[in-house]
Parts: sequence; C-alpha cells; structure tokens
Amino acid sequence: MIKTVLIANRGEIACRVIRTARRLGLRTIAVYSEADAGALHVELADEAHAIGPAPARASYLDSAAILDAAKRSGADAIHPGYGFLSENADFAAACAAAGVIFIGPPPAAIRAMGSKSAAKDLMEKAGVPLVPGYHGAAQDPAVLAKAAKAIGYPVLIKASAGGGGRGMRVVERAAALADALAAARREAEAAFGDPQLLIEKYLARPRHIEVQVFADTHDHCIHLFERDCSIQRRYQKVIEEAPAPGMTAARRAAIGAAAIAAARAVGYVGAGTVEFIAPADADDFYFMEMNTRLQVEHPVTEAITGLDLVEWQIRVADGEALPLAQDAVTLRGHAVEARLYAEDPARDFLPQPGRLEHVRFPVAEGVRVDTGVRSGAVVPRDYDAMIAKVIAWGETRAVATARLVRALADTEIAGVRTNRALLAAIVGHPAFAKGALDTGFIAHHRAALLPPPTPADARILALATLARLLEERGHAHEAAAATADPHSPWAHSGGWRLNREAWQECLWRDGDSTVAVRARFSTRGFALRVADTTIAADGALAADGVLHATIDGVRVTARVVRHGDGVTVFDRGAERRLGVVDPLLAAAAGEAAAGKLTAPMPGRIAAVRVAPGEHVARGHALIVVEAMKMEHTITAPAAGRIGAVHYRVGDLVDEGAELLVLEVGVG
Ligand code: ADP
Repeated sequence: MIKTVLIANRGEIACRVIRTARRLGLRTIAVYSEADAGALHVELADEAHAIGPAPARASYLDSAAILDAAKRSGADAIHPGYGFLSENADFAAACAAAGVIFIGPPPAAIRAMGSKSAAKDLMEKAGVPLVPGYHGAAQDPAVLAKAAKAIGYPVLIKASAGGGGRGMRVVERAAALADALAAARREAEAAFGDPQLLIEKYLARPRHIEVQVFADTHDHCIHLFERDCSIQRRYQKVIEEAPAPGMTAARRAAIGAAAIAAARAVGYVGAGTVEFIAPADADDFYFMEMNTRLQVEHPVTEAITGLDLVEWQIRVADGEALPLAQDAVTLRGHAVEARLYAEDPARDFLPQPGRLEHVRFPVAEGVRVDTGVRSGAVVPRDYDAMIAKVIAWGETRAVATARLVRALADTEIAGVRTNRALLAAIVGHPAFAKGALDTGFIAHHRAALLPPPTPADARILALATLARLLEERGHAHEAAAATADPHSPWAHSGGWRLNREAWQECLWRDGDSTVAVRARFSTRGFALRVADTTIAADGALAADGVLHATIDGVRVTARVVRHGDGVTVFDRGAERRLGVVDPLLAAAAGEAAAGKLTAPMPGRIAAVRVAPGEHVARGHALIVVEAMKMEHTITAPAAGRIGAVHYRVGDLVDEGAELLVLEVGVG
C-alpha cells in the first residue's frame, strides 16, 4: 500500500496531485528548486525537500536528487506529474531499482511511445490508422525527398523525439525540402539529442482529438472518452474541451477502440492519452502520438465523468483493478478548459516571467481553477509560463462556455502580461460557440481575437484617478487625525485645497502616451475631466483595492491594485495597466533609449550572430535570447554598424539589459 507519495513536479500539477493524495489519506512530499522556495506546492505538502538550483536540469530533471529526497522522506511512490521526468523511461526504471513505485506506465511502454517513428511502426502493426507519411529509419535526403513526393506536398517534418510542439516544419514545395530537412535535423539534434526525422502529410486546418485511456495490471484497458484540443498556438494547446463537439456515438466508439488498441499494443498501465489528428473534411482520424502520462487537460475529462484521474493513477499503481468497467463510465454534460499563461500574445506569445502582484480567481458554480500561484508569487524564467487552468462545466456546451466566459472575466492578474483577454475572446467568439474548431482557429480569427491596443477609455481613467484621490484623501485624514487638532484645515495635505475651484491634475502613462485627468472636489464628490468629458465620480476604496464607485450616477464595482510605479484597473472583465507619472521625472525621461538593443525578457544568450564593427542591414539577426524553452531573435531595427556586444553565449541576462550597441545609420 502506498502511504507516502513524493510529487516530482511543481506549479499547479504538484498542487493538484497533493490535493488528491491528501484526500486519500496519504502523506505528501514536495520537492522544489531554489526558484520555488516560496511556492504554493511547497507549502501544501506535509514535507518539502530542496533539490537544487533553478535550472530544471539541476533540479526537477535531476533523477538522483529526486530519488534521494524520496529516500530521505520515506516516500514509497513518486508521482511525476507532466513534463519534467514524467516520460523518462530511465527515471521510471531507476525508481523501480530504488524500490519506489513510479506512478505511471512501465518503462518499456514509455520507451515504445517515446520515439514517434518507432511508435508509428507499432501502431501500423496494431491496425491503428496513421497520417499518410514516412517514419522509416533511413534518413538520407534522397530517401526523404522520394517519400515527401509520394506523400504529396505540403508535408510536415517532425523530430521523432520531439514534443511540446517544437521542431516542426511545414514544407510547401519540393524545392524547399532539402533546406528544411537540414534545419530540422540540426534543431532536433540540439533540442532532443536525436536527429531522426519523420514526414507526414500536412493537413490543412485539422482538428486535434485525443482519447483518455486507462489500463491496470489486471489486463483491463478502457477509455474515458475524447477531448478536443484544436485551439492551439505554436502547435500547443490553449483551450481544450470534452466531449469533442459534433462527435457521434459511432465515431466515438471507433476512436475509443483505436486508442485502446494503441495502449494494448505497448502493454500500457495507468493513465495515458492517445492523440489523433482529424482532417477537416472527413470522418477519418489518424494516430499522431501517445503521451504516457497525465495530461494538462485531464480536468475536462474529470468534469464530464465525475472521476478523479489522479486517484485512479494511485490505485492502479498500488496494484488495484480499475474501479469501473467501460460500460459503467458515464458522460455527463460538457467541460471547457482555458490555459492561462504569463505571456504576451501580441508579441508572438513571448513568455512574461515576473512577479504576480495580484492574483484572484473566481469561485463559482461549475468552475474549477487549478493553479500553483497566489498574489506575490513569481513566474520564474526557468519553467513553463502557465499560471493556471480555468475549467468550467455545464449540462450543455453553451452553459459550460458561458460559465467559462464569466470565469475568465472574473480572473484578475496584475504584474505580468497574460493571455487572459485572448482566452476570453476565443471562448466568446461566435465560431467557438458553433463548435467550428480547428488548429488554425487563432490564426484565422486573429483580427477579432487580438485587436490592436486602444487607448484607455474615460471610465478606466476615471476609476484609476478616483482610487488615487480617495487614497490621498485617506492619507490626509490619517495625517490630520495624528495632529493635535485633527479638525484644523492646516493639517490637511495631499493636494487638498480649501478653494474648491482648484483643479488637481493626475497624469497617467497609458502605453506610450501620457494622459491628464483633471479633478475637482465638490460636496457631491469629484468632477473628473478626461479630454473634453466631465465625469461625476465618488466612492469608497477598500484595503484590497476594491473600489465601490458611483460614476455619473451609476454604481459600479471595480478593483484598482497599486504596484510598482502604477496601478492595474480591473473593470468589466478587463484589466488595464496605467503608470503614475511624476511630472518632474517625466521631463527627464525619453532620453538614451535610441540605438540600444535590450533583452525583451530575462533569459540566457543562445547565440550571438554579429561581432563589433560588423555592418548589418535592417532585419539582420543580431542575438538570440533563450527563455522559458523558447528562442527570441533580436533583429536590427535599422541598418548600421555594431558598436559593442555586451554578452557571450551562455550568459544570463535580465529583462531590459542592454545586449549590444547598434550605431544606426553608420555605413
Ligand atoms: P508534439 O509532440 O510536439 O506536441 P504532435 O505530433 O503532438 O507534436 O503535434 C502537435 C500539433 O501539431 C497537433 O496538435 C497539430 O496541431 C499539429 N500537427 C501535427 N501533425 C500534423 C499534420 N500532419 N498536419 C497538420 N498539423 C499537424
């Protein structure tokens, strides 16, 4: 019997596993890197062990350190979560060798599915349908060119050892194949240590449909229905739902049977997901790969089945038979999950590590939030930037969607940029309501989903200004109360004048512009002048930033959170960051920036493509910064000569650090 489980992971998944383990009466052990010393999962566990510095290689991927923590804590089982060591067959084997139960499939099953090419070979033999393609061992360019021609363009090149949407390349024409293969091979070797490639027919706007399977050590293998994960960016899932819209009973039975055949072919045990790709214009589905672990999106399956998949994982690992037979698993209602990331969708989804100054998630019927963060937490640069999953369930898809729209509107994050508005726009889009999903959804509806930034409207500026004025008035009252004569008008400060005609000016920075709001106090509250509108405003500001305001006679509730040199206003399901402008400092600013090229985010220098003295054209790649498993190339904003390069490959850089100097226009 498992009594103590160590969770070899971090973030929301570690918290989620701890929750179930607790419910089952188990002792829970967390592990953490130096970057996570203050993390929620560390606090939730009964005991937590430090396993090394921030880089994953030195902590969450360090098998020996984790097994050592298991030994020290007396853990008899390890749950790997997803990512990190969850699909590492050697780690699973090392656990067994150390006498610790690995809560996951046998090493051989992980190995069999670890290579996309080898897995496809096995699947072909098991009669599971495959995307037309080539997954042979021979890799010479002539063989691959012949294969691509036979498949028919466009084709997709994948790294056999790839994952996480990395290392894929679409090739439109035969003439572009050789270069694409060479680049893909280099990338596969560098990222996964294995240059083997495979080629598939590239399907135009397909759907991603996957099946949750579960097997035990008593020869039972069932499926828990499908999930549709077609809404993606960078080939990575953003929104997932269960069941898949439009799925018929016959098709569900067919895809479920194919998934079970796939799992059985590798002697699978535990929770796994068989991923299929479905062409837009047919009822076909083709095997893509099997993920031999719990998926990020498992909560939607839990919501429609009423089951706890982590509980099942633990019971199966303990040698129990599956709690239910296929016929006994029921599907009720519909669930949709949105992945909230610290990232900037407007800048190609660039991760945004940093401090979460304010975090608040909704509590509502049918809504579940899985997260590993709270106010004050830091999204470290070293790991994936997902900060939460917001999941909504309803009797119908329409209700689930409406609940998710509302839940996303009520989600408040300040301090870093997130994809919250994009998620809300996706689930609120008419095409989403119709269930018209495919992997090109975000690109296709880009204009509606990612509108260009607009200036803060008068109401937002009024709320921000009102909060600032109320706060100042609060301070003034406190100061007055502290003096000998609290009622003396001389004790009042903070910009308050007895002369009611005096207008006070508040300056805000909104993006690149500075906006002035003029405020005047009267017995009826404040008159706020924004551009040429005057707004009557008054209200009360609570310590947690909740602002109960009356704006032109209408009662509204918003939140204004102060952090750094500004505020974030949450109002009507949107957030807006405004900087407080000190007029004296403002005049001094605006210098120096020209000609300097800075790091867009904290990270590590992956490549330096230029040397001092070199002449570059506009758009020339200068330096590559790697952060959160992604590469960002800094290019020359204009033609010029490289003055100095401040960093070398491998160096760590902070956000905003000057990387190199470009002498613009020097020819
Ligand atoms: P990874 O292991 O890196 O996640 P997958 O093989 O699971 O890679 O594919 C990830 C995503 O890439 C899919 O969900 C789909 O959007 C896209 N994709 C994969 N194969 C194809 C294909 N043959 N045609 C079109 N898109 C594909």
